[in-house]
Amino acid sequence: MSGQIAYRAGLHELGDGIFAYLQPDGGWGWSNAGLVTADDTSLLIDTLFDLNLTRAMLDSMRPITESSPIGQAMNTHGDGDHWYGNQLLPDGIPIVATASAIEEMRAAPPRLLDATVNQLELGPEFEQFVSRTMRRFDFQSISERLPNESFEGTREMSIGMRRADLIELGPAHTAGDAIVHIPDAGVLFTGDLLFIEGTPIIWEGPVSNWLAACDSIIDLGAEVLVPGHGPVTDESGVADVQRYLRHVRDEPPRASRPGWTRRRQPMTSTSPTSSIGPRGADRRQRRGDLPRARPVPAGPDGAGIGSADGRWDVTH
Ligand SMILES: [Zn+2]
Repeated sequence: MSGQIAYRAGLHELGDGIFAYLQPDGGWGWSNAGLVTADDTSLLIDTLFDLNLTRAMLDSMRPITESSPIGQAMNTHGDGDHWYGNQLLPDGIPIVATASAIEEMRAAPPRLLDATVNQLELGPEFEQFVSRTMRRFDFQSISERLPNESFEGTREMSIGMRRADLIELGPAHTAGDAIVHIPDAGVLFTGDLLFIEGTPIIWEGPVSNWLAACDSIIDLGAEVLVPGHGPVTDESGVADVQRYLRHVRDEPPRASRPGWTRRRQPMTSTSPTSSIGPRGADRRQRRGDLPRARPVPAGPDGAGIGSADGRWDVTH
C-alpha cells in the first residue's frame, strides 16, 4: 500500500480510518504526523514544529475530527518538530510520551530554540545554515505544552474499540524514541527511527540500539510504515536505514583516514560525502530535524557520528 501514497504535502488516508500528514521534503523540521480514528474518536500522533504548521494540519483534519474529535495524543520523541504544536491540542486531553522523551522536551523548550536561532551570535557558517532552515519556523509564539502522561517500555491505548500499542525502542535517534503500532490495520508510525530519503541523525545512539530498533520494527510485520520524515514506506525503507546505520558503524571516522583532512565547511556544502545512505540521500546533504543545545557523545559504535557537529566539521 505504501507505494500508492503520493509524497505530497497534506493529509493522506492510509485506509480504514488511519491517516498520515506528510510534509515534503522531509528535511530539517519538516516532519510527518498521524491520525488514527475509530468509534467517533481519534488519536493524534505528533504535532509539528510551530503553531502555523500545526494549525494547518489540524484544519486539514477537521472533516474527520468534527465527527471523531481528537481525544488523546502522543509524541513519538522529544524533538521540537514532533511536539512544539501541542499547545493547539484540545484542552485537557491525555498527551502521552516516554519519560525519557519528556525529559528531553524539558531540556529543549521552544524558547530555547528561539533564542538559539534568533539571538545568539552563531558565526558565518552556522548562521547561513540556520537562516536557510530554522528561521522558516516561528518559535517565538509557542507556549510550551508538555505531555501529561508518561510511560516506559510499552503502553496500550484504546481508540474506541481499536487498539494502539505504544512501544519504546530508544535510545537511538533520541533518548526516548517510541513507535505506535495499529495491529488490526498493519500500520506503524515510527517517528524518527525512520528517515526515508533523508539522512538519519544520531542525537543519542548507540547505533547498535537503533539497528535493534529497526529489527523490532520489521518483526511487527506492519505493511505500511509512516516515518518521522519522508514518504510512507514499507519494510524496504527499514532496510535502507539499516544499511546506512551499518555503514556509519563500520566505517572509521573520516578524519582519521589517510588523505582526509579536517576543515570547517557548512553542512550545506555540495562536496561529496558517503554515497551510502537511504537512497543516496547523503549525496544530497539532506537533513531532517533540529539541532540540539546539548553535546552528542561519540561512542565506539558510532553514537554521535551523525551529529550536526561531526558532519559539519569533517569534509573530504
Ligand atoms: Zn527527531
